Amino acid sequence: MKGTRALPDTRKSEALHERALDLFPGGVNSPVRAFRAVGGTPRHIVSARGAILTDADGNELLDYVLGWGPMLLGHANPSVVEAVERQLRNGFLYGLSNPLEVELAERVRRFYPAAERLRFVASGTEATMAAIRVARAATGRDDIVKLDGCYHGHADGFLIKAGSGLQTFGIPDSAGVPTAVAAGTRVAKFNDLDSVKAAFELRPGSPPAALILEPVIGNMGVIAPEPEFLSSLRALCDRHGTLLVFDEVMTGFRIARGGAAERFGVRPDLVTLGKVIGGGLPVAAFGGRADLMKLVAPEGPVYQAGTYAGHPLAMAAGNATLAILESDSAIFRRVEARTGLLAAGLREILARRNVRGVVNSLGSMWTLFFGVDQVASADEARRADSKRYATVFQGLLERGVLLPPSAFESAFLSDAHTETEIDRTLEAADEAMEDLA
Ligand code: PLP
Repeated sequence: MKGTRALPDTRKSEALHERALDLFPGGVNSPVRAFRAVGGTPRHIVSARGAILTDADGNELLDYVLGWGPMLLGHANPSVVEAVERQLRNGFLYGLSNPLEVELAERVRRFYPAAERLRFVASGTEATMAAIRVARAATGRDDIVKLDGCYHGHADGFLIKAGSGLQTFGIPDSAGVPTAVAAGTRVAKFNDLDSVKAAFELRPGSPPAALILEPVIGNMGVIAPEPEFLSSLRALCDRHGTLLVFDEVMTGFRIARGGAAERFGVRPDLVTLGKVIGGGLPVAAFGGRADLMKLVAPEGPVYQAGTYAGHPLAMAAGNATLAILESDSAIFRRVEARTGLLAAGLREILARRNVRGVVNSLGSMWTLFFGVDQVASADEARRADSKRYATVFQGLLERGVLLPPSAFESAFLSDAHTETEIDRTLEAADEAMEDLA
């Protein structure tokens, strides 16, 4: 197979990337789009429909990035397009409240009852920042605990890597994060209750304000919680008067109607949501117990605000998306079943080709890790072979299939991915893995 196929023409993407390099750091407006982890030319996309992206050169890509998660219904779903078009004609920024905010919040709460009250923001980063501010105000404590491998957006206090973090205080994972801010973040390990307990007890007599985690990690590739891990965290938080914050920006409205809270039967005190709730337009939210949300301005002393919060176009897209999920609740099972088919097919290829690797999947999130037999922690994910991932990424891209351009990001499936497309992906993956030999 190798060498006989014509490679796609990417000259227009290349030329655009050259111009972009002069304008943006790394030529991009969000780092992973630069393809640094996988090599090759970052594609510039000009349109998207269903499961397919079309790049500037006219190449079609079967999309497993799905805007990094939001596009559960696939791209340009007709009902969502129609709702946005309708709103567009009525103006698109009012600076005052609009009925679509109320409608969407009621929908979100029906799906996610732990969000007793909520507030819309424009990005997941804002949502996690605000949730932690509420937790600090409610408890009168400063420190938080985060888990290694979980990503909560790019606010200072979350950009902390574990390292030997348990016995020490947080070490910034990014330049420009003040040491004093990093010191307020204690890091523990996912799926390791003892490490979380140790982080809670790190400063004697001073338990943390909040424990924040992705209840299913999606930002180290997909890593599911072990049985009882989440419920043990709930009990630990209750013992210490610490607030449990589920960051369900990725998992909410994706791994089940009510996200990980529903799937694993654990109720957080505060939750952050995003991605799917905006149907591809910028919407996120933080919410939780009514007594905690009462602390938020103007009802309470925790300040938080946003010019684009509750943006009418985004609310229209969110409402149209959640209306579909409400009327066709089988979507979650359907997309999960197809994800299961894809994961099983990939496992079969790994076994048949004798390629060491593992496929993690949960709901419609999935990751292909090479060079390891299991991934249940961030440490295990880091041991995965990202060079092999890059080779397979390129092999698939040449065959018109787009995986996340990083070995440590979850891939997704949408309701627009049919079994035919899954078969096509498996054929391409089989060929791409031949390139590994
Ligand atoms: N939390 C989680 C779990 C995420 O996956 C992300 C983004 O991928 C964020 C927060 C940050 O969201 P945003 O990129 O909208 O700021």
